[in-house]
Amino acid sequence: MTVRLSLDDLPLRAELRGQTPYGAPQAPLPIALNVNENTHPVPEDVADDILDAVARALREVNRYPDREFIGLREAFAEYLGHGLSASDIWAANGSNEVLQHVLQAFGGPGRTAFGFAPTYSMYPILARGTGASWIPGHREADYTVSAESAAEQVDRIQPDVVFLCAPNNPTGTPMTLDVIEAVYDAAPGMVVVDEAYQEFAPRDTPSALTLLPGRERLVVSRTMSKAFAFAGARVGYLAADPAVIDALRLVRLPYHLSALTQAAATAALRHAPTMLRMVDEIVAQRDRISATLDALGYDPSPSWTNFVLFGGVDDPAAVWRALYDRGVLIRDIGIPHSLRVTAGTEDETTAFLDALASLESGA
Ligand SMILES: *Cc1c(COP(=O)(O)O)cnc(C)c1O
Repeated sequence: MTVRLSLDDLPLRAELRGQTPYGAPQAPLPIALNVNENTHPVPEDVADDILDAVARALREVNRYPDREFIGLREAFAEYLGHGLSASDIWAANGSNEVLQHVLQAFGGPGRTAFGFAPTYSMYPILARGTGASWIPGHREADYTVSAESAAEQVDRIQPDVVFLCAPNNPTGTPMTLDVIEAVYDAAPGMVVVDEAYQEFAPRDTPSALTLLPGRERLVVSRTMSKAFAFAGARVGYLAADPAVIDALRLVRLPYHLSALTQAAATAALRHAPTMLRMVDEIVAQRDRISATLDALGYDPSPSWTNFVLFGGVDDPAAVWRALYDRGVLIRDIGIPHSLRVTAGTEDETTAFLDALASLESGA
């Protein structure tokens, strides 16, 4: 009989002992609204063009890819605008890897990373994995944080890396530029604005990209996973001063972006307007979720993302399970009396709202 070893039997790094990996459940349910994916598939004509680009890249896959992924960086610079060029852009396999590069270069052992909790669950995991310690900051009861409070906290903690999730996951809360400016002025180290959900904010909302000129410690990260419906391709990117990009080159693995990834992402960006076609529809479903939850007596947080966090849930674990049993997967992120749901297609959203309403009436 073989004995199943546990982590305690291994010479694991001390700071990883007792930790659990990122683990949003991946269950094969018909309605999956738990990890903020874009539930609309890539449009057919774009998929065909991506496939052609990947097929061409495959013919040269015996060679290492362009280590500097210049074509893709040019495409991201063009998509972002704001006068950016390829030398201001970095990318990796998901914005998680982009953020990991930032921590590898600017965090690390003996250093600290900081963010206003509750915030994206990967920040502490990435910090720990790269040897930094994570310090959670404080938000108001409505999950906002004022410029004054943000600056005071950052000034007190003196973190090496600050993560500002704007708008914030898992709460959906917007963050205004004055908060970002105040944090930047108070911070001794790098300030990362994670704009994973920026495309779901109201159209005229200024991006933190407008703050980049003259702020060499500021980084603005984005992802193709959400608005671009590209989660499975794993492509994230950031904009920052070219000196920051030079620092990230020190820690990336050589050829970290495969030729197939570069080809797929570059082709997808040529169709940015089509790829983003579903954003308005998703925003409409998000607002419908908020309005319906409100009518059902729950307490939805204002959201500028593709999901809604709602309070007023007596027993989140029980509601999560009851929805699961009805084929609807949402997320219990551990905030008391709260659950989070991603806006799906109109039909998926209806299925969620109907299932939740049926619980209400005890059906
Ligand atoms: C989804 C998400 C990301 C994106 O992760 P990828 O690695 O690009 O898929 C980054 N930040 C936040 C806050 C997110 O919610």
